[in-house]
Amino acid sequence: MTDYSVYRQQLMRLRDDLLNRMGKSQQEERDEVQREGNRDNAHLWEESDIRDSLDDQAEQELAQVNAALARVENGTYGSCSVCGEPIGEKRLEAVPHAATCVNCG
Ligand SMILES: [Zn+2]
Repeated sequence: MTDYSVYRQQLMRLRDDLLNRMGKSQQEERDEVQREGNRDNAHLWEESDIRDSLDDQAEQELAQVNAALARVENGTYGSCSVCGEPIGEKRLEAVPHAATCVNCG
């Protein structure tokens, strides 16, 4: 059985990073609301949209990381979710939350 504890650690770290990033942007948004009050400001709306899409990205990545951690737990980590072949160490090192091999991804 392959030892995936290294990848598990990477995934845990990645999850912490994502949670930190999301927590930070939420804090920044609160600060901004306090500063600007209810003043209508088109520029502010634009910035808020950009931040929302960054949050979406982080949330999607977080979901993938959590799914990968679940696969480590149930022993299916490292196998392609489409064809079942090994994903490959190089790809897992680059993208530890990858769910598919290079051919299927
Ligand atoms: Zn595959």
